[in-house]
Order: sequence, then C-alpha cells, then structure tokens
Amino acid sequence: MGPRRFTSFSNVVAGALRSGTTMSHGINPSTRKPLWDIPVATAKDLDDAVTAGQDAFRKWSQTSWKERQNECGKPPQFADLEVAHSLRCLDFHIECEEPPPEIVQDDAELRLTLHHGPIGVVGGICPWNFPLVLGLFKLCPALLTGNCIIMKPSPYTPYTINKFAEIVAPAFPPGVLQALNGGTELGPMICDHPGIQKISFTGSTATGKKIMASVSSKLKDITLELGGNSAGIICPDVDVNIVAPQMALGAFFNSSQLCVASKRIFVHEDIYDAFLKAFVDVVGSWKLGPPTTEGVMLGPVQNEMQYNIVKSIFEDTARNGYKFALGSNGPFDESSFIIPPAIIDNPPDSSRVVTEEAFGPIVPVLKWSNEVELMKRVNDTNTGLGGAVWSNDLARAERLASKIEAGTIWINSFEKPLPQALLVGHKESGFGGEGGKHGLRAFMKPRMVHYYKSPVVGSKL
Ligand code: NAD
Repeated sequence: MGPRRFTSFSNVVAGALRSGTTMSHGINPSTRKPLWDIPVATAKDLDDAVTAGQDAFRKWSQTSWKERQNECGKPPQFADLEVAHSLRCLDFHIECEEPPPEIVQDDAELRLTLHHGPIGVVGGICPWNFPLVLGLFKLCPALLTGNCIIMKPSPYTPYTINKFAEIVAPAFPPGVLQALNGGTELGPMICDHPGIQKISFTGSTATGKKIMASVSSKLKDITLELGGNSAGIICPDVDVNIVAPQMALGAFFNSSQLCVASKRIFVHEDIYDAFLKAFVDVVGSWKLGPPTTEGVMLGPVQNEMQYNIVKSIFEDTARNGYKFALGSNGPFDESSFIIPPAIIDNPPDSSRVVTEEAFGPIVPVLKWSNEVELMKRVNDTNTGLGGAVWSNDLARAERLASKIEAGTIWINSFEKPLPQALLVGHKESGFGGEGGKHGLRAFMKPRMVHYYKSPVVGSKL
C-alpha cells in the first residue's frame, strides 16, 4: 500500500472534527500555488475547546502515568507518514519514567515531599519550520504529565498537526487533545484566554516577547523556545575534509531553517582557505529543487515572508561588496521560493549576514586567530540558543564550549536535537526549556506536602 494522501482538513474540538465558514490555505513553496483548504477557528471554537479541555482535565489529570503512556501510542496508519524524529519523540515519551516525588525531609516528626502535577489546559503555539515534530515536542510531554492541550499550528503549515490530532484524538477522552488552525488573531486569543493556564511557544524572539508581555498580565505559566544565531567554531587541528561536509549539514540542513543551525562559522586562520574551499565544494555539489526531485538536498524556503527576509540579506551582502564564495545575489527564479545557497567569505562582524538570523540558505564564514577575541565575537549577540566546537584536542574543545553563552552545545558534531535532551535558550533565545525528562517539568507545577506524622502538634507551634 502506498502512502495515504490527505486532502481534507479540520479543526479538532471536544473529540469531534469541526469545519467553519472561513477557510485558509498554505502555499506550496515550490510552485507558489495554493494548497488545501483548512477551516479558520473562531473565538467560539476556541471557547468551546477551552471548555472541553477544562472538563477533560478534571479526569485526565487523575489518570496514571502508565495509562497516559498507553494512550500516547502511535497508530500504524500515521506512523507510515511519520518522520523518524517524530517517532523518536513518541518513543521517548512512551518509555519515559515518571519522575518520583522528592523527599526533602523524612524523620520521626515530619515528611516533607515535593510533588509535581499537571498545570491545566495548555496552548501549544508552533512555528512552520518543522511543523510536526516541534508540535509533538509539546503535545507528548503535555499529555504525559496529565495536561490537556490545544495545538495551534503556524498559518504557513496548518496541515500536519491538525491531521495528527484528527487521527490521534479519538484515542483520548474528548477535550484532551485538540487542534485549531487560525490566522493572525488566534495566537493572541489563545494567550489571552483566561481558561488556558500555560503557553508553550516555539517561534521567533520578536513574537516570544509579545507573548511574554501578553501573558504577564494573567500570570500564566510560559515556556518560550525562540530564535538563535549560533556559532560553529572550527579549531586549526581538524581535518577540513571530514568537518566541512558535516558543517555543511549543520548550516544548510532544511535550507538553513533550523533554529539551532550554525549561522556563523568561525574558522581558524591556519585552515581558513582550505576549509572554505571544501565547504563551498560540498554545498555547491548539492542538488537544489522542489522536494519531488530525486536526490535533492536543498528545497525551497518555506514561505514568502521568510523568502523576502532572506533575499533582503542577499541584497545587503551584495550592496556592501561582501564576497560570495558560493552563490550570488540572484537573479532568483520567482516562480518558487527556492534560493540557491550562498557562503559569504569573511564579512565584517557588523554585517547583517552575521548579526541577523537569516533562517535561510546564506551563511557567513569568519576568520579567527586567538581564543580571547574569538569568544568575544561568538558571544556578541543577544541570542543564546546553540553552538558547536570542532577540535581533535578535546580539552581545548571543552574549554571553548564552556565559554559559549548558550543553552545547548555540541562538541565534534553538527546540531542534532535529541528527544532525551533538554532544549533551552539563554539570553533572548528562550525562557524555560522543553525536551527530555528535564523538559517534562515545563508542563508540571510543584506542590510541597508537609506531613506531620503525629496527630498531636499543639506545643510545637
Ligand atoms: P513566528 O514567531 O512568526 O510564529 C510562530 C507561531 O506564533 C505561529 O503559530 C504564529 O501564528 C504565532 N504567533 C504570531 N504572533 C503571535 C502573537 N502575537 N501571539 C501568539 N501567537 C503568535 O515564528 P516562525 O517564523 O513560525 O518560526 C521561525 C522562528 O522560530 C525562528 O526564529 C526560529 O529560530 C524559531 N525556532 C525556534 C526553535 C527552538 O526550539 N528554540 C525551534 C524552531 C524554530
């Protein structure tokens, strides 16, 4: 049996599929043609979902960890369509052990125990760059820890998480897992809704700040997984022919639309020319085109908004006379959002291609000579999401890694998020973190129980 193709999409409210009077659609970035219709959720749909979530929460929050893991099982018809990382995310949560309560004190008089329980109805607001897996990294831990969740996909990629909810929601009591597609108003409505106790957001720093401001007046729980401008550091002792192909993946995977990708590559001056040549050779050899093309490595930028941002960085780079070691400032084929990759040879640290998160296939390679100066430049950013260090001298690699001001560091690997690892952004790259057993805490609130063992307490007060 070949893969099943979906052409109709719904919102999922209170265990039922719900359509609407207004529709939106995504755009195929390879052709700029509209994709399928999907209903736009209204304020009433959101109210109904919150009410259903609150009703469901009363019982769902009382179920056991094991019961919830059983319901999280992946249906085979969906597994066929799943990408490997999404499956790893599901597997991790299915196998994840329940964190035990922490006994802070236990003596003849008093047992003091710290428990962690669910928060309530969670709003899961998602970006467009990995619409399924980033959604699952909210949905799985939220449900496993006993919350109910209303998922909101990006309007650019509304299909996968809503379809996942359509298929999987029947395995849960109505209201536990719901999904609403919407336009620009729905995200703010979710953040504002008094029945939603927690916002789990992944997206840009600019939106994260707006969300933080909005929920602060309600004192809601919040996790923000935001943008980054991560540095990859290459020491002089590496073999450029081994590191350049890996760095190429780290910087250009998914046409550079990966939050933790290396977006500034610092290469030691002793191997700079050799690395740059190897790097350009690898990326230049990759096939570019729509995902339907056999052997394609680089597809389109996902949407027009991002396409225009990326193009403006190409233009700025060309206007300022910075050197394209690979690629050029167009002309681009405007029939799609495909942009051929560009590697910029040692532009100034103050250039837009260095200071901004392009989130598209244009990457600067920068020369460094001494570690003190290097670390100043690496940390001269208001972001702090990731970073990578490549060296055969492990003590040196660890020393440099410890000085990167960011939440996730890779040593001798390109940036590969893992389901068992917490992902957390420092500085303006985030607030709190999700992923792994430590990330479960983002969906739980603590409760301290003071248990006096003797019923006679009078004189102790
Ligand atoms: P975005 O901030 O534009 O949108 C993300 C989501 O927020 C969308 O669902 C959108 O509809 C919603 N939204 C927009 N305005 C809102 C508001 N005022 N209130 C509530 N919701 C609102 O981000 P994007 O362009 O979809 O994603 C790309 C960005 O996400 C990049 O900066 C990337 O680095 C970052 N990202 C971070 C991580 C991480 O784990 N740290 C992962 C992936 C992407």
